Amino acid sequence: MNKEEFINDILRKKKETGARILAHIYQPPEILELADVVGDSFKLAEMAQSMGDTVIVCGVRFMAEMVKILSPKKKVILASPEATCPMAEQISPEYVRKFKKKNPDVAICAYINTTAELKEEADVCVTSSSAVKICKNIENDKILFIPDKNLGSYVAKAVPEKKFALVDGFCPIHNQLTPDDVLLLKQEHPLALFAVHPEAPAEVVALADYVGATSGIIDYCKKNANREIIIGTECGVYDYLTLRYPKRKFYQLAPEKMVCKDMKYTGLTALWSAISGQGGEVIEIPEESRLRAKRSIDEMLRLGK
Ligand code: SF4
Repeated sequence: MNKEEFINDILRKKKETGARILAHIYQPPEILELADVVGDSFKLAEMAQSMGDTVIVCGVRFMAEMVKILSPKKKVILASPEATCPMAEQISPEYVRKFKKKNPDVAICAYINTTAELKEEADVCVTSSSAVKICKNIENDKILFIPDKNLGSYVAKAVPEKKFALVDGFCPIHNQLTPDDVLLLKQEHPLALFAVHPEAPAEVVALADYVGATSGIIDYCKKNANREIIIGTECGVYDYLTLRYPKRKFYQLAPEKMVCKDMKYTGLTALWSAISGQGGEVIEIPEESRLRAKRSIDEMLRLGK
C-alpha cells in the first residue's frame, strides 16, 4: 500500500472498530494527524479513561503502561512494542527496594517516565510540570528522586527546604545538550528567547528564559506570539510548533541530537498493523501490581492539587 492507502485504511478501521489513537507529541507528523488525542504522557492516560474500549498508544512502553494502570478494563495496544524510553529502565526496582529498607524515612518520588514496576515501588509520581509543587507538598523532609538526575537537580534547587538524593539516570536525548549549543544558536539569533525542558543538564537550563514540560513550552510559545524562540527539547515539539504556527520563527536547538529514535518507531505501517490486529502489543499488568503502581499516581494527584 502507498501512504494514502495506509491512511485511508487506518481511518476506515478506526470507524469499524471504534479504536481510538493516542499519540505523544514527539510522534511523527503523519501519526499526529491520525490521532484522536495528542499530548504528553499523563494527558494521554487521563484522556483515555473517557474513551472507547480499545486504545492504541503511539509512544513508548511506559506511556501504554500508564494508560493501562488508569484504564484496566480497556484493551491497550502499544503500536510499536520495541519502543521503550531508555531512561525509564535505567534504575532497577531492586535498587529502590534496598534503598527503602535502609532509609525508611525517605520518600521515593518517581518521574512519570518510569516502568510500571518502578511506580509500584514509589511513594509518589511526578510529571515534569508538577514535580516542584509535589515535592514541596510531600510530608517527608528527605526525598529520593528517580530516575532523572537533571530534573531531580532542577527540582532540588526549587525546593531548598528538603534534602534530595539523586541517582545517575538521565534522558539520553536531552542530556546531550551543552551550553555551547545554546550560545552558538543565540549568536545567530540574538533576539530569540530560549525555552528548555528540565531533562536538560543544569548548565543548559541556567541559560533559559523559560524552563518547562512539553505542554509548558508550547504554552510559552503561544504567549510570546511576537517573539522568535529557540526550542530546547525533542524535535517533535519544534515540528508541532512549526506546523501549527507556520508564519512564526522557531529554531531547533542541536537538531542532530534532539531526535528520540524510540519515539519515531511508530510509522503508518506500525499503526496500520496495530489497528488491523496484525501487530502491536496488548499491554497486560497483573491486577495486584497495577493497584500498587496506581497508588503512586493517586498520590501525585492528591499532592498536586
Ligand atoms: S526523549 Fe528521552 S525521556 Fe523522552 S522517551 Fe526519548 S529517551 Fe525517554
